[in-house]
Amino acid sequence: MTEKQHIEVVVLGAGVSGIYQIKKLIDSGIRATLFEADEDLGGTWYRNRYPGARFDSESYTYGYSFSQELLDEWHWKERFSAQPENLRYLNFVADKFGLREHMRFNSRVTVMKWDEATRLWHLDFEQGESITTRYVITGIGVLSTPTPPRYAGMDEFKGESFHTYWWPKEPVELAGRKVGVIGTGATGIQVISEIADKVGELTVFQRRPNWSTPLNNSLISNEEMAQIRTRYDEIFANCAASPNGFEHVPDYRGFANLTHEQRVEFWDELYAKPGFAILAGNFPEIFLDETANKEISEYVAGRIRQRVQDPVLAEKLIPKDHGFGMQRLPLETKYFEAYNRDNVRLVDISDMPIQNITANGVQTSAEHVDLDVIVYATGFDAITGSFDRMQIQGMNGDSLADKWHQGPSTYLGLFSHGFPNLLMVAGPQSVSGSTNFPRAIEGGVNWATQMLCHAIERGYTRFEAQAEAEQEWGEEVKRAHEKLLARRSQGWFTGYNSNVRGHEQGTVRYQAYFGGGPKYAEIIKRVAAGGYRQIDMS
Ligand code: NAP
Repeated sequence: MTEKQHIEVVVLGAGVSGIYQIKKLIDSGIRATLFEADEDLGGTWYRNRYPGARFDSESYTYGYSFSQELLDEWHWKERFSAQPENLRYLNFVADKFGLREHMRFNSRVTVMKWDEATRLWHLDFEQGESITTRYVITGIGVLSTPTPPRYAGMDEFKGESFHTYWWPKEPVELAGRKVGVIGTGATGIQVISEIADKVGELTVFQRRPNWSTPLNNSLISNEEMAQIRTRYDEIFANCAASPNGFEHVPDYRGFANLTHEQRVEFWDELYAKPGFAILAGNFPEIFLDETANKEISEYVAGRIRQRVQDPVLAEKLIPKDHGFGMQRLPLETKYFEAYNRDNVRLVDISDMPIQNITANGVQTSAEHVDLDVIVYATGFDAITGSFDRMQIQGMNGDSLADKWHQGPSTYLGLFSHGFPNLLMVAGPQSVSGSTNFPRAIEGGVNWATQMLCHAIERGYTRFEAQAEAEQEWGEEVKRAHEKLLARRSQGWFTGYNSNVRGHEQGTVRYQAYFGGGPKYAEIIKRVAAGGYRQIDMS
């Protein structure tokens, strides 16, 4: 048997998390190699090339904060930057700091097995290679396992069809063609808005509508960028202090202390503001109190009615099964106006379900829709999907996918008991999924690196979170979740995905921590300051 190559520290994933993680390890004097399944770096921004893909976070709050030089050099061109620019940014970072030499591409891990005797992980790659490593740090993304639907006949379609995550690198001819989009989440809403005036005919297959409010994007001039640069310290401090990791701050005047007219005036202002202002800058009561939520929902519904000319269609675009802000809010640019176009048609598949895909289009219970292109904007096996598709075997050969069958169980979203020497940056039950992603991951990476250095400096070769600590964290995650009205909603935050067995309607998975960024940061800081007592090291 040939000796396996040994790499002391391995990082998985070259997305936003992995890029910063490898940089941080190198800066800390730890030799590490990053493995990426794709042929190049960028993660989410390497893959999601569909028209309209862009941040919902203000660009300057999304970029890394760790290097003043980087902040001084990079010019964000738009308040909410689009995919090509975001990918350029991540490449710029990797090249500037010489990170590529620590990365290996086309390296998808299929199996990860813990060996207690040697205290090593054995990693098998899809391409046949195997290595051993002492420590594994995952940065494998929260939305990186796409879930196409399971309709019969999908392989028989003669035109082009793809999930938005796999949108081809080569330009897709849309002009004059009949295009169908299945799914109206954040992705579908971006695609539909962007291509409505570029295709011949657009048919949107909608099962459940989502609430959506304007992104209000704009260009960033040289002068404005210069201004932003002078404010970076303040910007990052504001993000660190706000529950969602944005600059928008909740309004604590008290929902009930204002009249209905005053609230509407305030919402008019928020509706015209960029980004998540209407969500993160709103009254906290709208997430907690049925009456408050009903009122804001009615307000946003009114806006949709104003924007969609056909009143029957407008009603179809207004969610009736969940209130505003109960699922991840997609932000839009002229989405509702797209439905006023003659070449755009909504097919309500909650009334007329899709039966199968044919060679020439989509067959619903009521009609056949002829199509040249089918776009599956059907979402992801969120948060745990990328862990589940690797066979991860910890102590006694136990499988992580089995342990997490009913939902993830972690300590701080960073560890899972029974899986030693595994650190999950942006892991399940952390705040990465529930807040402005890069702000959360920077905190996670800094913490994970500090903890690893602590262990290595003391000569420890094994760490494992205690079972009781994990149980307590699970209870804290559940408590934070149960306070929210969103606990009853069906979105990826709460683990719903109709295309993944066991994640269908009616299931709840406690996948993300909703206690807010500042509280989470405080908790992990306290654990470090206390000498990591909840983590057994030897
Ligand atoms: P999603 O929110 O899970 O939406 C999936 C959509 O597809 C839903 O409308 C769903 O309908 C529909 N669908 C799923 N399976 C279907 C089936 N078999 N038949 C018919 N319809 C089906 O996924 P997403 O839109 O990709 O968004 C996921 C997350 O990615 C977002 O919430 C966001 O966090 C992130 N994202 C971010 C940005 C950004 O930053 N701007 C952009 C895009 C995505 P049901 O609800 O009825 O299941």
